[in-house]
Amino acid sequence: MTHPQPYPHPNAPQQQGPYGSPPYGQPGGPGPYAQPAPYGQPGPYGHPGGTVPRPGCEVCGAQPATPVTVRSHQGMVVIMRTVTRRGVYCRTCGLAVYRQLTSSTLVTGWWGLLSLFVTPFVVLLNVLGARAALLRLPEPHGAVRPPLDPGRRVLHRAPAMLILTPFALVALAIPTLMVVGLLAKDDGPVTLSVGDCVRNEAKWPEQQLEKVDCGSAQAEYRVTDRPSCGPTDYLLQAEYTVGSPRPGFCLNARR
Ligand SMILES: [Zn+2]
Repeated sequence: MTHPQPYPHPNAPQQQGPYGSPPYGQPGGPGPYAQPAPYGQPGPYGHPGGTVPRPGCEVCGAQPATPVTVRSHQGMVVIMRTVTRRGVYCRTCGLAVYRQLTSSTLVTGWWGLLSLFVTPFVVLLNVLGARAALLRLPEPHGAVRPPLDPGRRVLHRAPAMLILTPFALVALAIPTLMVVGLLAKDDGPVTLSVGDCVRNEAKWPEQQLEKVDCGSAQAEYRVTDRPSCGPTDYLLQAEYTVGSPRPGFCLNARR
């Protein structure tokens, strides 16, 4: 471990050949295939886990462990802060860190304009990066200290429920509004024909015309296609379609 290395490197001790051969890159040294294999896979000379055992979980000491980066984000209206936590964790401790930071991001991440855009990325990075790497690890063994409590899954925690429920409601609200919009459209301007009688339910000059029977007392106006409206007539608003879309239909006062 303390051999002087010509090229100092964090992994330098691992690059030394298993039989004391010169370091990687030196004449006679091991070739590129002498890199330590990932833990649990046969090493270059058939040794499991390469030549040097990988460090265990930095919390509990269990094997196997993997280096992961977990982030949390905090929006504070105008300023924001992203905390990056790097460590070598076993599956249990790593998931505990991931769940804690991701959950807190779901609560504190949204409070700022930029944060609204940063937070989904931070959560996505945690899920696709750290979480995926940790879930690929087998169950840890050989812990020398108590591991962290991974607790409940992020989606089963209160923050996720609190944050995701409004999103779910918004997602549901969009189709609901579309249906309401379609229904409201049915309630829109009626199609009239020349000779129809109408009653205005709004206050002039607003027009909210209801088609009624010309014989009934409710009939206030008759739709005409005169070239110009009389002094007591109203011009039919364009939103009311009369057969073909041409302007100039009058509402002739019935009394
Ligand atoms: Zn651990």
